[in-house]
Formats: sequence, C-alpha cells, structure tokens
Amino acid sequence: MKISNVSVKALKEKYGTPLYIYDVNHLKKNMEGYLKNFKSLEFKTEVLYASKAFSCKEILRIAKNEGMSLDVVSKGELYTALSIDFPKDRIYFHGNNKTVDELSYAIDNNIGMIVVDNLMELYEIEEIAKEKEKKVNFLIRMNVGVEAHTHKFIVTSHVDSKFGVLYDSCDYKEMMEVIKNSSYLNFKGFHSHIGSQIFDLDAFKAALEKLLNIVKDFDFPLVLNLGGGFGVHYTNDDKPIPFDIVSRTLIETAEAALKKNNIKLEKLCIEPGRSIVAEAGYTLYTIGYMKKTPNKQYYFIDGGMTDNIRPALYQAKYDCDIVGKENQEKTEVVTIAGKCCESGDLIIEGAHLPKAEKGDLLITYTTGAYGYSMSSNYNKALTPAVVFVEDGKDYLAIRRQTLDELIEREV
Ligand SMILES: *Cc1c(COP(=O)(O)O)cnc(C)c1O
Repeated sequence: MKISNVSVKALKEKYGTPLYIYDVNHLKKNMEGYLKNFKSLEFKTEVLYASKAFSCKEILRIAKNEGMSLDVVSKGELYTALSIDFPKDRIYFHGNNKTVDELSYAIDNNIGMIVVDNLMELYEIEEIAKEKEKKVNFLIRMNVGVEAHTHKFIVTSHVDSKFGVLYDSCDYKEMMEVIKNSSYLNFKGFHSHIGSQIFDLDAFKAALEKLLNIVKDFDFPLVLNLGGGFGVHYTNDDKPIPFDIVSRTLIETAEAALKKNNIKLEKLCIEPGRSIVAEAGYTLYTIGYMKKTPNKQYYFIDGGMTDNIRPALYQAKYDCDIVGKENQEKTEVVTIAGKCCESGDLIIEGAHLPKAEKGDLLITYTTGAYGYSMSSNYNKALTPAVVFVEDGKDYLAIRRQTLDELIEREV
C-alpha cells in the first residue's frame, strides 16, 4: 500500500507506530478546491481553515502558502499561527469565553477579526480596545436558529445554545447600541456556524438566508462568515457533497438574495476544518495480540482512544484495512480495540478484515480531523509522530513524544 507514492511499510520502518500520516497532495487538492470554487464577481470571498481540526506548524504553512485564511479558537492556536508568521490580517478569532488575556494577546497582535460571541465579551473588548487605543475589527456570532447534525437539520430555534446571539433579543439590541456609541469597535458583520459533519446543503442555505435577512438593517456592505461543518466520507454510509457544489450553491444563494433585495455584501467567508484535513489523514497501527470471546473477535492495536477519541466519545465510525492484505478476502468480523484501560477504548466494531497475524499493520482511514488535535496522554501514552507525504517523499511534521517530555513539567 502506498500513500502519495510512499510505501506505508517503509513509513512504519522509519517512524514506528502508532503514526499519523497526512497526504499533502490531498490536502492541497482540498484547499484549492474550495479556493477555486468559492468565488464571486459581486463580492469578495475568503476561505478559512478551521485549525482546531488539526493545528500544527506545517499544516498552517501549507494553508498559508495556498492562500487560505485561518480560524483559531484559543491563544494556543493563535500562538501556533503566529509562530509561522501566518498573515495576521487573515486570522479570525472565535470562542464563547475568550479570556481577557486571550483578547489582549489578539488585539496586541493586530489579528484581522475577532468573532464576538456574546454581549459581555463585546463590553470586554471595548474596554481593552479603549485602554490600548486601538480599533478592533469584529463580527458578531449569531444564533440563526438552524442546528444541523450529520443527516438531520432542524430550523426550530435552538434558543439555548451556548454560542451566539439571537437576533430577536435584548442582547442584540444592546450590542448595536454599544457599537454605535464606541469609537473603538469596528463592526464588520456577522458569523454563524451551525454544526459539523453536515450533508444537507439546505441547512447551510437556511443559515445563509437568515444572515442575509439581517444585512437589510445596515446601510453599508457587511462581511458574512458561514462557518464550517461540511461532511466527509468516513464510511460508505457517508455521502458528502463535493466542495465545488457546496461552494457554488452558497455563492449563488448569496448572489440571488443580493439581487432580489438590492443589497450589497463586502465579503462572504466559509471556514471548513474537517473537510480540509479528514480524508487526507490516516493512522497506522501495529496489531499485537488477538483473542476470541464467545461473541467477538478482537484485534488489539498499539494505539487507541489516546490518538483517536472520536469512537469512544460519540460512536464515530471508521473504515480500515490490513496493510498488504487489502485485496485478500475479508473473512473475519473484528473489533479493533486499543491498549487503554477502558472497555470503551474501541476504534472500530464489526470491521470486515482478512485474518491477521501479530505484527501486521492496520491502517484507519479519514483520521485527519479531530484525531491528533484531540489526542491525550491517558495511561501516559506518548503522542504519536505525524508524518507528511507528498509526491513520493516523506518528512516529519511532529516527532513522537519522548518519555522525558512526558514528565518534564512535573515537579
Ligand atoms: C469547529 C468550527 C468550524 C469547523 O467545523 P468543521 O466541522 O471542522 O468544518 C468552523 N467554524 C467554527 C466557529 C467552529 O467552531
């Protein structure tokens, strides 16, 4: 088996397992797919990579060089971006409870846009900006009452979300007053993010239409940011919408609404995370012991919930293969379990695989999003290395954690 023309077995020899592998050709194809299609002649457009899906210097360098903008949700993610000189004017800072320290750090560093999540945060920013005598560009995150999860979406108002502001609320009215009376708050527009792993384009259209409705209240062109959440293929149950169709549909929906209502936009943004990195990522494990119980057959791997918590956290599904045996008959029904002291430490249940031998390599697909970024040191597991492959070459993006690093902060 090869990824981007690099032998997976050779990667195991060179870097060991567990190992995260990213196909750079695939990453670039995803980024370019959005950048090329999410374009309009009527308004500016911007595609942000939501870096919480997978944040490290090398992926951010690639995003930067491809011309992507960036979404960060913490001082840590912002620090990582600044460490590789990501253009500051292309960084958007999200979060429902940004601390004074985080806001000051962002404002000191002249970050392009802060996405304000609630009324109290707006007051905080106004205070910090006044003290620093700086103008702060910001969007307001709206709760547009569209909530989408995977195959379903609901347009009934999910009024109690921890994220965003309701249009019909006292908080919203007060925010507009605060903005009017401040010479430091540079209000630019609105943001919404309706969920993740969404396959229904109508959910995004519904959210966009809600935002476009608010635009009518203003006599200058606004920036609208539609968030991310575009679904990806984990297993054959998932049927993602190609990103050219997602992009074109959103652009056309906006263009049609602008024409109909005779309004203008300054810019339309989207911020995909998962759909940039998920399918470009793989995790490689070594199979150790195997055992049969009355109703199950287990293959044990040398990683687990410490490198991929999603199956344990919310029953996420994955596909896998045994490297070099992809084309063998899949005679076995197997539970792939990790090595953590938790019965819930399962990566896949009911995987169809050929018979394995101790030492075989197991590869799981579509692990590029929320794998490394949600990894933990539970059981004092060492965080795996991350290797990038491109056009037959491989290079280390993050080296494997060492035992010394595991305890270096402990007194
Ligand atoms: C998580 C998040 C995203 C990215 O979501 P994906 O499902 O990874 O595409 C974008 N915007 C905001 C505000 C988010 O919280």
